Amino acid sequence: MQYNRIYNFNAGPAVLPLSVLEEVKESFMNFSGSGMSITEISHRSKNFEVVINDAVSRTKRLLKLDGSYHVLFLQGGASLQFAMVPMNCLPDGKTADYVDTGTWAVKAIKEAKILGKNPKIVVSSKDKNYSYIPGNIKLSADAAYVHITSNNTIEGTQWCNFPDAKGIPLVADMSSDIMSRPFDSKPFGLIYAGAQKNIGPAGVCMVIIREDMLKLVPENLPSMLKYTTFSSSNSLYNTPPCFSIYIIQLVLKWLEEIIGGLDKMEAINKEKAELLYSAIDSGGFYRGTAEPGSRSLMNVTFRLPTEDLENIFVQEASKNSLGGLKGHRSVGGCRASIYNATTLEGVKALTDFMKYFEQKNG
Ligand SMILES: *Cc1c(COP(=O)(O)O)cnc(C)c1O
Repeated sequence: MQYNRIYNFNAGPAVLPLSVLEEVKESFMNFSGSGMSITEISHRSKNFEVVINDAVSRTKRLLKLDGSYHVLFLQGGASLQFAMVPMNCLPDGKTADYVDTGTWAVKAIKEAKILGKNPKIVVSSKDKNYSYIPGNIKLSADAAYVHITSNNTIEGTQWCNFPDAKGIPLVADMSSDIMSRPFDSKPFGLIYAGAQKNIGPAGVCMVIIREDMLKLVPENLPSMLKYTTFSSSNSLYNTPPCFSIYIIQLVLKWLEEIIGGLDKMEAINKEKAELLYSAIDSGGFYRGTAEPGSRSLMNVTFRLPTEDLENIFVQEASKNSLGGLKGHRSVGGCRASIYNATTLEGVKALTDFMKYFEQKNG
């Protein structure tokens, strides 16, 4: 394999398209004929303005966002958004509905509580180890927003159809599945995503926020914690993570120009996931942990007959250039993260190895 690269199934930071990495390599020494590395140019330069504006335009085109949305690039990861969302968009005296579908949802709820806000857990799938996405959710009529986690990275579940919030803005943590499929953006008041799963490297979080949500931002917050600070400055209030934003721009260009948009991306993602889930379901050796109707197209979680076998599986896979298959430390088992940049070839290599391992140990 070129550059001795392995098949990378890490959950995050995660695999990036090879063509993007090759372009980064060039611009790392001399960006766009500037005679400087992309990491050496000013965030106030024309060159960087082109980068950030292109990343914003491509995001708007790919997600078909109308003119009422702002695309921002913030630091602090998705984890800071757990606090910024209620800080900015949950007025005192109001409540917000939270859907508890796993570890990251729990963390979002925790931050809202720390702020003395009033998050209301309207439903939880904790009763079955977060192995499913709840249906028939009763939402409050007076909530400021409804918070969901579109893809549960650790538990391997994903919303197939988003809940009908009846006009109340949906707020979604899309860290691990943004840009993996098309969806109707209109019900969403705010979307946030740490870049390091599906759209870039660590160090930047994409926030997509609608005008009406910006109107809720209180005046008396520190500048760096206010969405309006970034919406009024094109994310250039202070020095942004330029290098990370640049890589996002290239990933979005790859999505539009090489893949051909989110419909195409979704078809590829479905093909990869189906291949992997059918390898899991084909015998009694592997067992998927998510309920079939809630299975994630991004993070495929599964168990083997014993923990010992799981450890050997991860080790042997690694010797065969298949990396990152250990499940999250909080849940154990195995997990293959098959984000946008994971190739069908990589998934085939994994399923071939799974068949071989089953024959040897089953
Ligand atoms: C990884 C992840 C986070 C945490 O992201 P950070 O950028 O590390 O703060 C939050 N939510 C989801 C769904 C994730 O997958």
